Amino acid sequence: MLIRPDGETLDAFGYEAENNYSDLAMEESHTQWFYFRRFKMKLFRQGGVGRTLMLEDETGKKGLSAKTVFTGAIKYLKNDLLKESEKRISGGPGVIAAFKENHMEDYIDLFRDFELNKRDISTKKSGGKINLSMPVALVETVMEVTGKTIKETILGSAYRERIQLHGNKIRVDVDIVIKLFSEPVTSILNHVSTLLEESAVRGCNTIVMVGGFSESPILQERVQKHFSGMSVIVPNEAGLAVLKSAVIFGHSPTNIAQRVCKFTYWYDTTHIYSDTCSHSTGRRETNENGDIRCYDIFKIQAKVGEKVKFYEEGPESIVSPISASQNAIGFEIYASLNPKPSHTTEKGCSEIGYLEIPINDTSLGKGRKFGVRFIFGGTEIEVKVEDKADKQVFRKRVDFL
Ligand SMILES: [Zn+2]
Repeated sequence: MLIRPDGETLDAFGYEAENNYSDLAMEESHTQWFYFRRFKMKLFRQGGVGRTLMLEDETGKKGLSAKTVFTGAIKYLKNDLLKESEKRISGGPGVIAAFKENHMEDYIDLFRDFELNKRDISTKKSGGKINLSMPVALVETVMEVTGKTIKETILGSAYRERIQLHGNKIRVDVDIVIKLFSEPVTSILNHVSTLLEESAVRGCNTIVMVGGFSESPILQERVQKHFSGMSVIVPNEAGLAVLKSAVIFGHSPTNIAQRVCKFTYWYDTTHIYSDTCSHSTGRRETNENGDIRCYDIFKIQAKVGEKVKFYEEGPESIVSPISASQNAIGFEIYASLNPKPSHTTEKGCSEIGYLEIPINDTSLGKGRKFGVRFIFGGTEIEVKVEDKADKQVFRKRVDFL
């Protein structure tokens, strides 16, 4: 995605952004513009989104708030659906970084070349070769960074028999590229096999492949072969299918009747200890009011794999203040991939949001009661709260950021 130097106006998206940026780079006037690629992976690496998260642009020297970048992207996708996104490349980090820094337009070309080839590579082409053009600037950069020519670099590597240099093109054995796929493909097959053993997907007979990697014929072939009893569907532009559905869902959520919960959600609570309690003694404490309470009790609201209908209300639980003067009840909301999480600190479990029920009138003290129902299946997690004193009902959205 390309954003103008004002840091707000979206110039272009996908291929067009790539082209425009490449043009700007050729004229050496790209440095004031903001070019973002693969921001999804960047977010993943940074481990989450906050309201103030900044994203670095492609140059790594400047950035914009993630909110600006996402707003631009979603607007674009909504108004004017799309062509292309995510690109990938691999290579020696030192050389590639220097190449990118000084020759952005060649970098984009090389990238595109690699990407087009990658989509084309299938096991049927085993034994064949693919050609990649080698930009002159890359040849020079290799020399500057490593002190060796490309030819010397290739001859000195384990690939000397399988990569040849012809003028400004390199010919690579397709099998080298196929091999690069082997590990990720095997992990995917194993993961899907595990998923298919779960009770929530019993009877499932269709696999829909989405995401950029689904466009790879190698992955498609292996999935079809491995799950030969099932029908495998690969939508057009599989790489953008998730993004497109998310945008459709965001704008007309009623189109999705039901979905499968991705996580187990719960809130953390506490209650007064009673003789019948089976909660662990290690999590029992006497508080400042002299009450013995059990802490860290998980009130599970939805389980991973469970089917949730649009705007379906969950069962009601009753919550009350712990002390008489309390003017709000706060909940920390957690999510985990584990259907039966036992600690908030266990792997794969994280606090995802916060919810607060205000208590404007504290005259009922600890006797105040609220009925709480979680509502899943919408675009956000909402909670319906019923004040048991005056029967008033209001909704609160969970604050995720
Ligand atoms: Zn207890």
